[in-house]
Amino acid sequence: MGVGLIVLACEQQSEGGTVSVDPTLFLEDALVGDIAEESCTLSGGTKTTCYRITVKSTPVDHQAGPWCPKTISDGDQAGGIWPEGGKINNVDGAFIKNLAAFYSDDERKLYRDDGSVRVTDSKEACAAAARPDVDEDYQSSCFQCLPSYLEEGMVNTYIIPIKPVKQTTPGQLARTAVGLALNGVNFDPPTPTDAILSAHTLAPFDDCGGHINLNHGYHYHAHTGCPTEMAQADAHTPMIGYALDGFPLHTRLKEQSAEESRLDQCRGHSDETRGYHYHVADPGSNSFIDCFQGEYGCSFERDGEGQTCDATSMNNRRGPGGPPPCEGERKTRRPDDEAVKESHFAQPHLKPCTDTSQKHAKHNHKHIEENHEHAGKSHMHAES
Ligand SMILES: [Zn+2]
Ligand SMILES: [Zn+2]
Repeated sequence: MGVGLIVLACEQQSEGGTVSVDPTLFLEDALVGDIAEESCTLSGGTKTTCYRITVKSTPVDHQAGPWCPKTISDGDQAGGIWPEGGKINNVDGAFIKNLAAFYSDDERKLYRDDGSVRVTDSKEACAAAARPDVDEDYQSSCFQCLPSYLEEGMVNTYIIPIKPVKQTTPGQLARTAVGLALNGVNFDPPTPTDAILSAHTLAPFDDCGGHINLNHGYHYHAHTGCPTEMAQADAHTPMIGYALDGFPLHTRLKEQSAEESRLDQCRGHSDETRGYHYHVADPGSNSFIDCFQGEYGCSFERDGEGQTCDATSMNNRRGPGGPPPCEGERKTRRPDDEAVKESHFAQPHLKPCTDTSQKHAKHNHKHIEENHEHAGKSHMHAES
């Protein structure tokens, strides 16, 4: 029996201590079409085989929103959250009322004298407000884009290496995506809080750490525990998705105080069962991981039909670390685009998404996890 376990562990690993991506872990309801294999060129120039994963643009396993409260007397349930000072703040009516003081900025008054909150309450407003040069009409407003503003049937596509390829030195995150949750939602790079705040506005996340951008739909900036998790058989913290380099993303270490000593600069480490993997950061950090240990693939807004993944081309064009990894949908973006992207706003295609209400999406994964929560010290061996 001891031997059997060892064999299993070996089979799960590929050379280099990395474990191949398991496409069956993604929620079936989140997928649009089957996950396919295709050739790809990763950010470091490695030509390999990737999975093409096309997903819906809104979550299938939890609600999206709310983001902005309607009045300054609204309670916690009426709004979302906002990261500041390394922590999450509840965006309720009182927070909006106090915002000018919170930021020592008199222009940051997002409500009218009658107590109603100024909110971007139409698709047009959400598009106009999110531009880097925020339209004056929308300054001092609470930004939000509703699922109903999204183009019908909008999808996004991720090209992720089947077998992660480690780099000799860690690389900067891709601008377009840090990774993909098992529920099909994008783990986005940090939201450009400076640009948002400089327009005296606020673009709250909902309580699940996500909000909507008209270009690629609902995406996360913080992990607060909403998306479907894949429990681990050995009490290691659950997996929640894959980074764009193909390494798994897990929730925080159970002993969060030990993260600094146990995790590398990217927030990853290795163990025998999972190989190299990351643990996402505190939700108040406006981030998930800090760099990629592997060469990353591509993400395409919409289906990326006819586009192959060459993650090097964007690097060449725009310099290290920056560029959206793939040609195509992103061509309208400018180099200064962190804000444009986050422009949670932007262009054309919008419309109501259907599947937002599906609850309890089903996993189509094969291995059912038994009971893993024997927390406590027993998991420590896994957290090397
Ligand atoms: Zn965002
Ligand atoms: Zn771990």
